[in-house]
Amino acid sequence: MNPNFLQTPIPYLKGVGPNRADTLKAELGIETYRDLLHLFPNRYLDRTQYYKIAQLQPSGADVQIVGKIIHLKTVEQKRGKRLVATFVDETGQMELVWFRGHKWIRENLKINEPYVVFGKVSRYGSAFSMPHPDMELLSEHQQGVKIAMQPIYPSTEKLVAKGITNRVIGKMIQQLFLESKAQFPESLSNTIREELQLISKSEALFNIHFPKNQNLLARAQFRLKFEELFFVQMQLISKKMLRKQKIKGMPFEAVGEKFTEFFESHLPFDLTEAQKRVVKEIRNDLGSNAQMNRLLQGDVGSGKTIVALMCMLLAIDNGFQTCLMAPTEILVTQHYNGLKELLQNMDVKIALLTGSTKRSERTLLHNQLENGNLNILVGTHAVLEDKVQFKNLGLAIVDEQHRFGVAQRSKLWHKNQTPPHILVMTATPIPRTLAMSLYGDLDVSVIDELPPGRKPIKTVHRFDSNRLKVFRFIKDEIKKGRQIYVVYPLIQESEALDYKDLMDGYESIVRDFPQPQYQISIVHGKMKPADKDYEMERFVKGETQIMVATTVIEVGVNVPNASVMIIESAERFGLSQLHQLRGRVGRGAEQSFCILMTGHKLSEDSKTRLQTMVRTNDGFEIAEVDLKLRGPGDLMGTQQSGMLNLKIADIVKDNQILKTARYHAVQLLKEDPRLEKEENKPILIAYSKMMQNKTIWNYIS
Ligand code: ADP
Ligand code: MG
Repeated sequence: MNPNFLQTPIPYLKGVGPNRADTLKAELGIETYRDLLHLFPNRYLDRTQYYKIAQLQPSGADVQIVGKIIHLKTVEQKRGKRLVATFVDETGQMELVWFRGHKWIRENLKINEPYVVFGKVSRYGSAFSMPHPDMELLSEHQQGVKIAMQPIYPSTEKLVAKGITNRVIGKMIQQLFLESKAQFPESLSNTIREELQLISKSEALFNIHFPKNQNLLARAQFRLKFEELFFVQMQLISKKMLRKQKIKGMPFEAVGEKFTEFFESHLPFDLTEAQKRVVKEIRNDLGSNAQMNRLLQGDVGSGKTIVALMCMLLAIDNGFQTCLMAPTEILVTQHYNGLKELLQNMDVKIALLTGSTKRSERTLLHNQLENGNLNILVGTHAVLEDKVQFKNLGLAIVDEQHRFGVAQRSKLWHKNQTPPHILVMTATPIPRTLAMSLYGDLDVSVIDELPPGRKPIKTVHRFDSNRLKVFRFIKDEIKKGRQIYVVYPLIQESEALDYKDLMDGYESIVRDFPQPQYQISIVHGKMKPADKDYEMERFVKGETQIMVATTVIEVGVNVPNASVMIIESAERFGLSQLHQLRGRVGRGAEQSFCILMTGHKLSEDSKTRLQTMVRTNDGFEIAEVDLKLRGPGDLMGTQQSGMLNLKIADIVKDNQILKTARYHAVQLLKEDPRLEKEENKPILIAYSKMMQNKTIWNYIS
């Protein structure tokens, strides 16, 4: 085959004129032979079976019948005309019906010639009828490529209106296979193909369009999905390799005095095995010559903070400064207080920087940062401001990364001449394998174990009509000395309404929980930061028993005495948000509860979300369900990793193939990083073409 064959513009294909070419481009983005070749069917219809008219059932299924048209007539009806053909075989007769396109059909249909018709049948009066059948002359059908399953291609209304039906697309692809003699360059090595028993590229492409049988179709799909994911992984992994080679890190060689002192004398509890493993992973990274770019995943309450602190001590021991950033003022303040307490007997200088830090304090802080007297800076986005300059920032830690964009991460990179090591901590778990694949250029550590002694939170779903019972339950808990959260949704578009809900809810709670017996805090986005902090403080100190709030408390707040989380209008929250909120309780030794309140009207997705919350406390399991419900589109990182433009693979359903693909990509790049070996030549050619272009399939074949 001419190496440029697949680049041929689509109008050169027999049967595609300039008009069709324009439509194909506008509707499906098809401009070249290659684009057409990679228009993969969405599904297949079984065409191995032929039915006789006498066997038909009004089942609504697609059937295929051989017969002849003996009569054609136009029937006038109230709304326009319909064209009706009487279609017969040796067992009976039925009708074929068209509501549109009469002229073309009248001119092209042949009377008394055998046709294969295909479509859905329904009973219409006493006779069966098939509206808008897919038809082909039997003689042509027999000459065409023999396929067991009819491919159904992606389509649009415009395509159909312009006569580019599924059958026409099928014909174009047949033509393309004819012109190419069905031979396409192989893009994988024999080693990989043999190991996974993959069929050849040409065989796979043929069978994806014209499956000879179910088995070959399955093998074609596997081969093409594997290949697609394999090349995405190649891209991600080599990007990471490049970063590791190009960017020299600042090796933290010493496991020094402060790290050891803390570990031996000030650690308030034994680390879990998972925490130990993760500290070790990070230490290895920091000690190497490469710059660390690591994602630390761990469910709410899994103890990420202490891990962060130990990493910061490593940095300090090696003569560097470090910072910890978090998205909200409340969270940052808690981190600051928590760290200060952990470090109380150690000689480490730590400071807090937020939007409300006073000018005078700031000036002092800037100085201390620049002359290196300050070891740890804990802060909000304020840390990113240009005025904030470090003497030598060695490690930056970002907590709850879903609130931080890539741009912000890159700002951190430039806070030092050599980019600091970066550790991103998130409590919104992404299914493990998926994280590996999405963040091909990030390393991933996982804390998959909670500290010992935690009682799993009991979660229930209650309808609003049961509110009184819920209130009684709250009173019992308060009697036992516990504290309660009541959380209302706050979704940007309906801010005013949400605010009203919150205030109504607050008033009804105040009515049912009268002062002075009960004290109630309220925190929401419209309050001044100082007022928020004041209310928050009262709750943290135990002066108030109930905290009514919007989702501002979602992230990170730590009040171990709080044992009940009530989530109002729970159906309006996403799964990961519900899980985050629930994580605010269950931090102490007492049994904790999460009550999801909703009305009676619930969508299927809402029901699934609520059931999932009731069933499990496992953040990773919840993340899997979330991913299935929402698809990967909302997932952080998918956009950048190109995982959204997949043509045939599905990162959720094809997770197993993804793992295999990643494994093989890693192996290959380990053994032959520059793809110099003869046997890897097909991969090299495919890959380098791919790198010149934006989409993967454009260049694999
Ligand atoms: P998160 O991962 O959600 O940030 P934190 O770091 O806030 O979790 O830890 C949650 C709570 O668990 C804190 O009160 C912390 O002191 C405690 N904790 C962390 N690790 C351990 C451990 N190994 N054993 C006992 N308690 C721990
Ligand atoms: Mg945390």
